[in-house]
Amino acid sequence: MPINSRRLKHIFSDLSYIGEESDGSITRLALTDEDKSARDRFIQLLCEHDLSVRVDDFGNIYGRLEGKNPSSPPIVIGSHLDTVRHGGLYDGTVGVTAGLEILIALKEEQWKPDIPIEVVSFTNEEGARFPHPMLGSSALVNAAPEKTIREMKDSEGFTFQQELERIGYDGERNARLNRVHMYCEIHIEQGPLLEKSNKPIGIIKGIQGLSWHKVIFKGRSDHAASTPYHDRQDPMRATVHTMEKLYEKAEQQLTTGTFTIGKVEVQPNISNVIAKEVTTFLDIRNQDKKALQKDVDTIRSVIHDCNTSENVEIQDLAFQHPVTFSSRLLEELENICGQSGIETETMFSGAGHDAIYMPRLGETIMMFVPSKDGISHSKEEYSDWKDIYQSAEILYELVKKESSLSKSSTFMKEANK
Ligand SMILES: [Zn+2]
Repeated sequence: MPINSRRLKHIFSDLSYIGEESDGSITRLALTDEDKSARDRFIQLLCEHDLSVRVDDFGNIYGRLEGKNPSSPPIVIGSHLDTVRHGGLYDGTVGVTAGLEILIALKEEQWKPDIPIEVVSFTNEEGARFPHPMLGSSALVNAAPEKTIREMKDSEGFTFQQELERIGYDGERNARLNRVHMYCEIHIEQGPLLEKSNKPIGIIKGIQGLSWHKVIFKGRSDHAASTPYHDRQDPMRATVHTMEKLYEKAEQQLTTGTFTIGKVEVQPNISNVIAKEVTTFLDIRNQDKKALQKDVDTIRSVIHDCNTSENVEIQDLAFQHPVTFSSRLLEELENICGQSGIETETMFSGAGHDAIYMPRLGETIMMFVPSKDGISHSKEEYSDWKDIYQSAEILYELVKKESSLSKSSTFMKEANK
């Protein structure tokens, strides 16, 4: 087998335990000393295996196996090395580890790819320190103004740029990735579907779009004991009534999407005081662009039907269109898995990943490995070693095929034009 299971495990444990806390969880927030240690070790591993290294000016790290046509857009595989606070071993690290092992395996068998192959580790994917997830990958496609990114502050007031320079990862502007032949990321599922369906690999069709809103219910603070009901302007009642109607409507109508109220803030939040204001945070998701907009409209109309314009205000917080990945690569992966007798589940990702921005640079696809009990962002996060190994094997096959001009179906199509 080309993928060396022992080496894969070795690389994984080398990287994933950096930042281990006394309770066994991992805290490796972006651009901290722990993140620097993981980056340093990753680069050391790349150098040990004679792969060339470059770092761009957002701190994204690339390891490269040169191709016969060095100027061709590369095949890029990878993920991220940062974690949330008290996270687990697998989120992100699995993708970087698999990417690195694939490059080492190809190098070992002296594979001479027609186009370059790169492994990438993106900066601040989690958004757990600097409040913008997928920061390194989004910066490559100008999804946010560069100045905004560089001046973004963590909770202690340190900026992204300061910290990037402090750990010595403020690399070269011309090292940025600007086109890819193909991007593929292996990631843990962070949900229960694969485990439930007993399938070892998920092939990802795309990433759901999302719409976040803040709904503020307004009233008047009064004493809980001495204010009769008819004199109250209690926003809690309006909140409870509206939220109940929203969930009812969501269950009836939002068949392909999801609706969640995950956070509620009460002012002044004192048990014997009628609230002055209740703020709820809504998360609406759908894999289809039009359906997402329709869901948002439905939710809005329920809120307006249940309230007057004086007692409620809706603020839009974030919106992200759904992203669809390459159907050609999806088919390629299904074929490779089919030939190896591996059952797959074709699915959408609910969570965001660096891959969300990559379709702007070239053909993109993702693979999921099952998460035990669907758990992630916790020390309980676990994925079976056999599944991780198998996903690396499958990606190895895809990378090998895509890096050979005579085998890749893209190039075949180009040639037949
Ligand atoms: Zn991740």
